[in-house]
Amino acid sequence: MMGETRRVAILGSTGSIGTQTLDVIDRLAASGRSFDVVALAAGSSAEVLASQTTRFQPRLVSVADPSDAAALRSQLPEEIVVLHGDEALVEIARQQDVDILINALYGAAGLPPTLAALALGKTVALANKESVVIAGAMIRRLLAAHGGKLLSIDSEHHAIHQCLHGHRPEDVERLILTASGGPFLHRDPETLPHVTPDEALAHPSWSMGRKITIDSATMVNKAFEVIVAHHLYDVPYDRIDVVIQPDSYIHSLVEFREGSMKAELGPRDMRIPIQNLLIDPERVDTGLPRLRFDQPLTLQLLPFEKWRFPAYTTVIEAATDGGSALAAMNGADEVLIYRFLDGDIRFTDIARGLADVLTAWRKERKADPREKDLTLPVFLETDVWARDVAAHLPFER
Ligand code: MG
Repeated sequence: MMGETRRVAILGSTGSIGTQTLDVIDRLAASGRSFDVVALAAGSSAEVLASQTTRFQPRLVSVADPSDAAALRSQLPEEIVVLHGDEALVEIARQQDVDILINALYGAAGLPPTLAALALGKTVALANKESVVIAGAMIRRLLAAHGGKLLSIDSEHHAIHQCLHGHRPEDVERLILTASGGPFLHRDPETLPHVTPDEALAHPSWSMGRKITIDSATMVNKAFEVIVAHHLYDVPYDRIDVVIQPDSYIHSLVEFREGSMKAELGPRDMRIPIQNLLIDPERVDTGLPRLRFDQPLTLQLLPFEKWRFPAYTTVIEAATDGGSALAAMNGADEVLIYRFLDGDIRFTDIARGLADVLTAWRKERKADPREKDLTLPVFLETDVWARDVAAHLPFER
């Protein structure tokens, strides 16, 4: 493995996972693992992208906006190709010299590049769980047909990957994903309609982007992780559980058929999963933080009280509906989160809105003949439909 150069492209390079991935690449380079950063794509953070470009010398960069692209063009050396827009993300995913596509895009925009890379048999490392949430069955068909590889950049899936190592699938009884429970774990449910965006954005243990932080408060994020685990490890939903681990030191567990369990624990630092994923199965000390026991450390595991998190149950129900139901949930979730952050709806309206959109999907979309042949256009159409429904849901104040 040492000596081999891994050629990577990073979509969402200026976000939380993107910048941590580049930090890991730097650390690995310092310990003799060689990476070629072929392409970097950012949304609107053109300044940060420019400095990443100076540091990592990709041959291709892209931003969302044409005017940002023009500004970058005048700033960067001529040999660097500057692209823009959603098509650029797919173009990067298809580049011949990209071995690993790191997809850390936000939301449904991550799906087309994921599908494009998998159709070419590439390895895709996803922080964009929405890709799998929206189109899990289609992604599995692409993997089977083209021999690509799907990896998940998520502390929970990293933990399960570690715990499953060396075991026969038939000996695995249950996957148990840990959840911090978010900022409202012990909150009196009566007060939840009145929480502010700032309270919801104050995650107790992980620092992440805004959308995923709200998704952690509603546990939609956990439902999405359960869906990804279902597709990654081919375990049915009734054998995937959630347990609350408020400190987020235990990142997930696997229970085996005779009753023993394996857990993975460690520092709350996404760079460990990212590093292991980039050089799997090698392990290297790159100076990342450690969990030490020179102070008492109490690990608490609490039952997952689903009644506190109705949005979780709705999303898992949609997963068992199948079809494009989860495309609807994902689109609606994004819109409802924006509406909440804008002060337009209450925190509890996110869960109510998801349930309303699922009901509408069952009434209006489920029987549609196109549901029998799910392709990208059907998912995208459902996404647009659900966003529109969610944007116009009336909530009493
Ligand atoms: Mg996670």
